[in-house]
Amino acid sequence: MTQNIDLNEIDKFAKLAAQWWDPNGQCKPLHIINPLRVDYIKQQSGDLNGKNVLDVGCGGGILSESLAKLAANVTAIDLAEESLMVAKLHAEQNGLLINYQKQTVEQHAEHYLAQYDVITCMEMLEHVPDPFSIINACAKLLKPNGQLYLSTINRNNKAKLMLIYGAEYIARLVPKGTHDFDRFIRPSELMDWVEHAHLAVKDIIGMEYHLLSNQFRLGRNIDVNYILMAEKNASD
Ligand code: SAH
Repeated sequence: MTQNIDLNEIDKFAKLAAQWWDPNGQCKPLHIINPLRVDYIKQQSGDLNGKNVLDVGCGGGILSESLAKLAANVTAIDLAEESLMVAKLHAEQNGLLINYQKQTVEQHAEHYLAQYDVITCMEMLEHVPDPFSIINACAKLLKPNGQLYLSTINRNNKAKLMLIYGAEYIARLVPKGTHDFDRFIRPSELMDWVEHAHLAVKDIIGMEYHLLSNQFRLGRNIDVNYILMAEKNASD
């Protein structure tokens, strides 16, 4: 099989590398939602102290660093060399130990079967040709009872309006072409893939944007941005 990689996407993020840690730059939306996803992971998985955590498609390490600050043993993978360099340097400057690797999750799964307590794959599935292959590799990497967090964007007119017209064209929060609407993923599709990978869907939560307060909050509305949490069976 050809690799499950869209080189245009990797290139797009590599070009962004210098901006990963600029809270007002093109990664601003990720900085805004990061505390929400960290809260959600803490709510669902409890204390991460000493847990083995894998962050798939880590970019500059915005989430990886937050997980390392919770005293987890974090391994983080991506394919954009430039982003990984930024991530390594930033972690070092902040005294955080994170094992950054340039690798696909499918490659990682060939060596680290059932090694991880928690795996996160945030805002990445909508950039790969075959999201199921990513989820399947994550399932192999999880320990029994391990938890997988997947976040992505729903595929409907509201998401198109908010993310493509709103964030790219009107607010210019992120560069034009950041998102490809056809790759957005409906929760029902994501749930099907998760179940085909023999994981149990445990919870799903929205990251809702509130226009009036200009803030994101965790909530039950999964129309646009959402996170799904799944668990591996105790016996697998
Ligand atoms: N997860 C991070 C970054 C999201 S941006 C966060 O939420 O803060 C999406 C990232 O996925 C980019 O860094 C891009 O390089 C990476 N990516 C895209 N396709 C990938 C693949 N097949 N394997 C690993 N990383 C990939």
